[in-house]
Amino acid sequence: MFNTNRDVDSFAIPEQLRVDQLSFDGHSVTVHASTSDPAARCPLCARLSRRIYGCYVRTLADLPWCGAAVRLRIRVHKFFCDEPTCERRIFAERLDDVARVYARGTDCQRGALEWIAFALGGEAGARLARELGLLVSPDTLLNRIREAPFAEAEEPGRAVEGDPPAAPGRRQGQGYLRMDRGQS
Ligand SMILES: [Zn+2]
Repeated sequence: MFNTNRDVDSFAIPEQLRVDQLSFDGHSVTVHASTSDPAARCPLCARLSRRIYGCYVRTLADLPWCGAAVRLRIRVHKFFCDEPTCERRIFAERLDDVARVYARGTDCQRGALEWIAFALGGEAGARLARELGLLVSPDTLLNRIREAPFAEAEEPGRAVEGDPPAAPGRRQGQGYLRMDRGQS
């Protein structure tokens, strides 16, 4: 049981986020969080901005916790870009340590689904994922395989660009079944 917000933050929450509240509805855990730095760089021109335009809540599925589904509801800022030559006037801050742009799940969740997809494929992978508390369709798992970039490692066990995140207890790039595009 966590006693303080600091305990929660140091447990598994990326540095970019601050946990505001945890809630449990009997089936799923919701982590209410916000970004900790009121400044962000424009994704187009890279100029740092502290001028806030507004906020919105981004919802991301995360790895299950003790069998309960987990989702993050993150209060994300939108900023003005004040660079006169930049075409972007307003931009949303990125969650670089948490999830990709437009992703509906965290990088951790995505990595776990990729591991399952590569190990078991669509149908069996989706069944295992459901048992673990990850709701995903067979087609989504197959898409994870198709979307994964492939590159040959220079030596066995060496991580290469595009590898999914390392599974718990493993180094990145360790233990991958490598498949070439076009291979069934
Ligand atoms: Zn800009």
